[in-house]
Amino acid sequence: MHVLIIDDTQADHDLTVEYLKETGGDYEFYHAYNAEQGLKLYHQHPIDCVLLDYHLPGRDGLEILGQLVQEEKVVPVIMMTGEGNEYVAVTAMKLGSQDYIPKRILTPGALKRAVERAIERSGMIKRMEKYRAELETSNHDLEQFAHIVAHDLKSPLRAVTQHLMLIREREGDKLEGQSARSLEFAVEGATRMRLLIEALFEYAQVGFSEPVFTRVSLETLLEQNLHDLGPLIEERHARITHDSLPEVYGDAVLLAQLLQNLIANAIKYCKETPEIHISATQEDGAWRIGVKDNGIGIAPSQHRQIFGIFRRLHQADEYPGIGLGLAICERIVKRHNGKIGVESEPGKGALFYFTLPIAQSESESEPMRAYG
Ligand code: ADP
Repeated sequence: MHVLIIDDTQADHDLTVEYLKETGGDYEFYHAYNAEQGLKLYHQHPIDCVLLDYHLPGRDGLEILGQLVQEEKVVPVIMMTGEGNEYVAVTAMKLGSQDYIPKRILTPGALKRAVERAIERSGMIKRMEKYRAELETSNHDLEQFAHIVAHDLKSPLRAVTQHLMLIREREGDKLEGQSARSLEFAVEGATRMRLLIEALFEYAQVGFSEPVFTRVSLETLLEQNLHDLGPLIEERHARITHDSLPEVYGDAVLLAQLLQNLIANAIKYCKETPEIHISATQEDGAWRIGVKDNGIGIAPSQHRQIFGIFRRLHQADEYPGIGLGLAICERIVKRHNGKIGVESEPGKGALFYFTLPIAQSESESEPMRAYG
């Protein structure tokens, strides 16, 4: 094990070497007596563990630790503190030190254990960080794959559906019995598959494309939504009211999709005449937008599940759908660094809410980062 000792006192170097040698491990030591020497040796050699003294001439141990963490994120550092330096110990741990040892309780066993633990822990964190990065890459690849597949399947599927429908129109009355039923099944299957592929494409698109953030008037978005949902609203005689809605900072296309999915669900999952209210309140420096309905409601045990992909609580013949709407909503909200949730009980309607950043005044506003 390559151990770097950064300490300005020769006696402490000697003691550390003696203690670790006493435990019988196979160590190679590097000695530094100030910050600069220490950092130089750290960068020149494959160091497994750094024993870092807090009291150093010039820059103290915390400063060195800060620099190493900034450079590498995970460093196998053990902070050596003197008498009454609990504050240093706590700060060092917060900064990213793997451990600390008060010098007064230094024993060969304690030192050996601390070194081994620090090496093991930092190795584990590094491995986890590597897996996380790999997972992120493979997630991205998978997303790209879903996007391409969904995109490329869209037009052939549309062609299949349209031709099946043409056959039904032109030849439908000539077919009988099993053939007529088979054609019906084929039309239904192809239509459902088209809906699935289109929704999947939409879902992948939200994660895939870069959002364009601008100031967006939710009032204007809602007007457009109500216009687009006009036929459904009329058919169900839905009554929709709303608070005065704010301007927010976000992607107008994604936010329109979000609002539309929630309002369409509020109308769909309702046995009576739908009464929907869209509210806007401020909470913890963000807007909290609510879509409240008087529908069938959702049991609290299902509140998390319904945001999952293809998660539905009903059969398609009871309430049509494919179970991607809320997953898309959650993605959109996450891309805006917001939260989404539901408050509901069976038979008591549902309140779906999401949070969005408040649009700053023109002069203050800065480009926002996309998340997710
Ligand atoms: P879909 O509507 O296509 O099934 P969603 O992802 O939009 O997909 O919704 C998932 C499930 O959540 C729905 O199947 C339904 O059971 C439940 N749900 C969504 N919105 C509401 C609502 N407003 N009231 C009651 N249940 C709802």
